[in-house]
Amino acid sequence: MSAVYEGALQDLVEELGKLPGIGPKSAQRLAFHILQSESADVSTLAQALTEVKKRVRFCDICGNVSEETECTVCQDPRRDRSMICVVEEPKDVVAIERTREYRGLYHVLGGAIDPMAGVGPDNLRIKELMSRLQNGEVKECVIATDPNLEGEATATYLVRLLNSLGVTVTRLASGLPVGGDLEYADEVTLGRAFSGRREMD
Ligand SMILES: [Zn+2]
Repeated sequence: MSAVYEGALQDLVEELGKLPGIGPKSAQRLAFHILQSESADVSTLAQALTEVKKRVRFCDICGNVSEETECTVCQDPRRDRSMICVVEEPKDVVAIERTREYRGLYHVLGGAIDPMAGVGPDNLRIKELMSRLQNGEVKECVIATDPNLEGEATATYLVRLLNSLGVTVTRLASGLPVGGDLEYADEVTLGRAFSGRREMD
């Protein structure tokens, strides 16, 4: 169905079709858009793709995206080091930063517990979180996983684990769109969920 073109054009359609959320029709539309674009624009796009892989890595401490060994949040001396907000993906950090409600640090798990997809606690950066909590500097952990089944399972697991360490564990208040990603919540809703977070035990 998708193998209609030949050579370079077909290669591009196939590569674009591998991207998440891009079906054969969208891949075709994007390929023709690129084909009809100015050469300079296409070069800029190609360079952006290469550069992101070359320059961007994950923060050694929190797992957020970074162009250095430590991300800008971890490096910022003004951040409150007594709080860690636990999220699934780097894009959730961006969503929470937009609310301007939170001044603590982050910990990016790299996903959520999802037995159907073969993702267990060992596949997430939970060990790294535990070691960050060892020195006693962190007083509160805010669990901000997605408001869906996998996010809830991950939150339940973490609450049990972190409570045993004597850290105060809080969870974002309800009111977030259920079943979705954190990033889909608007700033006001997410900000409210943050300030209304409740203690879990
Ligand atoms: Zn970091």
